[in-house]
Order: sequence, then structure tokens, then C-alpha cells
Amino acid sequence: MGQKFSVVAVVAAGAAAAAHVASKAGGSPGSSPKKAEETEKPTAAEPEAAVAGPARKIMILFGPPGAGKGTHAPKIEAKLQTPQLSTGDMLRAAVAAGTAVGKQAKAAMDAGALVTDDIVCGIIADRIKEPDCTSGFILDGFPRTVEQAKKLDEVLAKNGEAVAKVVELRVPDAVLEERICGRWVHKASGRSYHVKFNPPKSLPKGKKAKPKYMLDDLTKEPLMQRSDDTAEALVSRLKAYHAQTVPVLQHYGAGKAVGVDANRGLDAVWADIDAATEWD
Ligand code: ADP
Ligand code: ADP
Repeated sequence: MGQKFSVVAVVAAGAAAAAHVASKAGGSPGSSPKKAEETEKPTAAEPEAAVAGPARKIMILFGPPGAGKGTHAPKIEAKLQTPQLSTGDMLRAAVAAGTAVGKQAKAAMDAGALVTDDIVCGIIADRIKEPDCTSGFILDGFPRTVEQAKKLDEVLAKNGEAVAKVVELRVPDAVLEERICGRWVHKASGRSYHVKFNPPKSLPKGKKAKPKYMLDDLTKEPLMQRSDDTAEALVSRLKAYHAQTVPVLQHYGAGKAVGVDANRGLDAVWADIDAATEWD
């Protein structure tokens, strides 16, 4: 289509994304949230200065909802010293902040459908220009369509860059419902827990997962359940994943994609992700 990313999407979602990153990083100087009206920027089709210095480590963490992307991303972040950019987290921040992007995205997200390519490409094109992406970034939940992948490639190619690795977490659909329906998350950081498979320290053994027992291990703040983490919405999300997202793997090809069997215990899965994210 060759469309320009919309300024509204870039600005409003970018502010939400910055706020999210600031909250994850505890508000580091380079990532303080800006008001939408203060951050009017060129569209993604007119990028700012090219990225200088050594090649950025650019990778995609790929897999269906519930595969373990959010669970393992913090360990990859710590290892590569690059931020995880989750379009899902950014969109949820935009919905919570009531931005124009959030209003546009909410209905699709609740129904388990994809948000438009324009919106998410705008968010990412803006976000990867932030200072914390100087060494690279880990894309989580993006690109989710071949169109998004092509747009991403275009934006990166303008700086002589490209995606280096796609790490695919493989989990059979049948396993995902229990994972999704038992998921609790720490909203500010995106840290992911599970009532059975990865309970927070605050849940006493043998107790039911009531909100008072479900607290983030690090901050002790309350965990929450996502409104789209239902068996019904998962059906649509998996349909979209197989029809629209899996073709992205083919787009990047066997030379870049590495498959990991993510239907195993957390430590075994991490050992393979660790090996797949070695960087020269
Ligand atoms: P994604 O970000 O890919 O949607 P998450 O990382 O949030 O998925 O994981 C979904 C749920 O499954 C979470 O509740 C998480 O604790 C749990 N989980 C993640 N990996 C595993 C695993 N290997 N075995 C069992 N449960 C897991
Ligand atoms: P999960 O990996 O558990 O499906 P995410 O947090 O990545 O969930 O995404 C939640 C919702 O946000 C998706 O169901 C979709 O509506 C929207 N979304 C996130 N990323 C994208 C994207 N790249 N393209 C379109 N919609 C997206």
C-alpha cells in the first residue's frame, strides 16, 4: 500500500509507549513520558537522523498468545542490554490512558482481533528512535502480519538495518488455554505470572488465586488479569495468529528464524532461548 503512518497514531501511542517504558525502567531520564501535544514528530515515512555506531541487535520474539514471550523477554533484555518492545503492552497503556490510539484499538483488542497495521507500525517506528534503543531492541508481538513485517523492514532499511534473528516459541494450541486463563500480570512492568505454573511468592500454597494473594514479587503491587485473557477471545486470537502472523516466519525465512520447543518447563525453554540469542 505504501501508506504513511498517521501522525496521530505515532504521537499518541508514542507517548503511551514512553510512559510504559518509563514505568518499567523506574523513570530513567531518556524515557520520561511526554505529553502528546509536546511530541509532534515527523511521520515514520520521514525518519529522523540515521542510527550511528555499531549495528543494533534487532530481534523478534515470536509465538502465539501464551507461548512465554513476556515471561522470557526480561531475561533476554538483561542479557542483550536491549529493551523489549511489546506492542500489546503499549496498546494497553494507550487504552488505559484514553488516548486516541487507545480508543481506536480497544474494541479490536477486546474481541481478540488485530489492531490496524497503521497504528502498530506507527507506534514501533516512533519507539525505536528512543535513546534506550541505541544498542538494539527485542520486538514482542510485532510484526504480526506480513504487511507489518514489510513496513518494519522498510523503516530499518532506511538506516541500513535489518532484523537479525526471529526466535519462535512453539507451543501447541491445546496447551494455551490453561496458560492464558491462569495468567496474572504486573501492569507497570509487564511481568507475567501463572496461578499454577509460575505463581507469585505471595500466593500461599493450596490457596485460591484471590487478588489479595496475587502480588508482584519485586514491587508487591497487585497483579491483574487481562480483559482479553478469556477462552472465547483466545479462539479469535489463535485464528488471527495462524492466518495472519505465522506467514511472517516465512517472510524472514529459515536463515533468520530459530524454533524453540516452548512446551516444556521454564528453565528448559530458557536454556534454548539463551542459546538462540547469542550475538557475535
Ligand atoms: P505471551 O507473552 O507469549 O503471551 P506469557 O509469557 O505471558 O505469554 O505466558 C503466558 C502464561 O503462561 C503466563 O501465565 C506464564 O506464567 C505461563 N507460562 C509461560 N511459559 C510457561 C511454560 N514454559 N510452562 C508453563 N507455563 C508457562
Ligand atoms: P498476546 O501475545 O498474549 O496475544 P499481546 O499483548 O501481544 O497479546 O496483544 C494483545 C492484543 O493487542 C492483541 O490481541 C491485538 O489486539 C493487539 N496487538 C498487539 N500487537 C499487535 C500487532 N502487532 N498488530 C495488531 N494488533 C496487535
